[in-house]
Amino acid sequence: MSTQNREVRVRFAPSPTGPLHIGGVRTALYNYLFARQHGGKMILRIEDTDSQRFVPGAEDYINEALAWLGIGIDEGVREGGPYGPYKQSERRDIYREHVKMLLDAGKAYIAFDTPAELEAKRAEIPNFQYDASTRMSMRNSLSMQAEEVQALIDAGNQYVVRFKIEPGRDVEVHDMLRGLVTIKSDILDDKVLYKSADDLPTYHLANIVDDHLMKISHVIRGEEWLPSAPLHVLLYEAFGWADTAPEFVHLPLLLKPDGKGKLSKRDGDRLGFPVFPLEWHDPKSGETSRGYRESGYLPQAVVNFLALLGWNPGDDTEVMGIDELIAKFSFDHCSRSGAKFAFDKGKWFNHTYLQNIPDAELAELFKPVLKAHEIDPAAFSDSYIAAAAGMVKSRINFVSDLWDNARFFFAAPTEYDPKAVKKRWSAEMPAIMTALAELLAAEPSFVSAELEPRVLAWIEQNGYHLGNVMNAFRLAVVGECKGPHMFDITELIGKDETIARIKAAVERIQPAE
Ligand code: GLU
Repeated sequence: MSTQNREVRVRFAPSPTGPLHIGGVRTALYNYLFARQHGGKMILRIEDTDSQRFVPGAEDYINEALAWLGIGIDEGVREGGPYGPYKQSERRDIYREHVKMLLDAGKAYIAFDTPAELEAKRAEIPNFQYDASTRMSMRNSLSMQAEEVQALIDAGNQYVVRFKIEPGRDVEVHDMLRGLVTIKSDILDDKVLYKSADDLPTYHLANIVDDHLMKISHVIRGEEWLPSAPLHVLLYEAFGWADTAPEFVHLPLLLKPDGKGKLSKRDGDRLGFPVFPLEWHDPKSGETSRGYRESGYLPQAVVNFLALLGWNPGDDTEVMGIDELIAKFSFDHCSRSGAKFAFDKGKWFNHTYLQNIPDAELAELFKPVLKAHEIDPAAFSDSYIAAAAGMVKSRINFVSDLWDNARFFFAAPTEYDPKAVKKRWSAEMPAIMTALAELLAAEPSFVSAELEPRVLAWIEQNGYHLGNVMNAFRLAVVGECKGPHMFDITELIGKDETIARIKAAVERIQPAE
């Protein structure tokens, strides 16, 4: 292996066949962290040679998701770069030329077997595999005369090009996570590399040719691709590129939160969490799938959460910003076994990150939520919205939770929690609240720390029950008996609003019997 002193160049190579799954996002993230740590390049390659599975909108979705998460791309379809095009459907000539190189060198051959013929073989021979043991009994350029082959092509017969895998070889895959993995070439079949029908390579060929041409140093991908790694090695060898072959990392699977098996969209639906970074509207079924962004997650929290699904920094540190993740990331601390998708931990990360962002930033995130509830944020100052959000943020896991916790800062209550009314709004309460409103009207200061001792002293002097009066006060202002510190609330909403709310409550609430 010649990866020492080599420029680190990694690629994320999604196929635009639907929304990017959260597992794919983790693969992208690990590529990104590794690239940044080594001062290398992160390439985004769109693997769209399978026209049957192409889904409109999927490529934009990939770009938008990576941008939202801050996973920066150095070379790609949008970014450009020295080794483009970065979209495989625009690289047909390159693949055609490489298929020809293998054919000319006798490392690949042309095969005419129709799907029906292959089906018949499979029925005839149990565990049929198109390989050294069977290929001479098939219809291909190894078993047929050159003239016959040419005649079939000239007559317009469709064909595929297959990789000629030599039996009896030990193929060595160097995986940075799994060590040296040796695979017997006999178990590999003569993979189809190209199909004349659509004049396109299969993803096997395109993926490998591009890794070479784009000078990829490390192939970091999902575990499901481990079986293709020997093909990668053998094709690099067949092309004569063996000394620039990439190192591999096959990342462990993301598992269901509550058991064994691969995390699926259904687990998300069943347990109530998104498995996609952004909301996705399926163009065919019309179905909408939830996204982390739309569910109120902060991108930094999602990144931190995902980074720890399969990796740890070697100690108990959990909350790490992107720079810290870049500095600490290492495949030495990646696990080889699957990582359970602990979505509750994701919520915890989001809660934690919400505590750490400045209130002014939180206010900006709150504005769309206010609008969605028909509150015009422009009717309030930025500092007012920030203060309201800041006061309740310790109670929220998601930005959307701000509404339930802080709505009373933006609209006076129109209803009062019946349970609280029953418990706190006794027959004498309207008179006490009216007196409180009078007291407040005469108060020179509504600053929390100044007003609080004065109101408490008034309660004491009059021999009122502290808990009952304060809860009734809260009920009048908030609509229920919860929320942040009462005098912080009244300081923010101000004197006039506080008094108006008390008066409205006295008028509206029927005292409990
Ligand atoms: N296009 C493949 C995928 O989406 C790429 C796999 C790889 O990283 O080589 O899974």
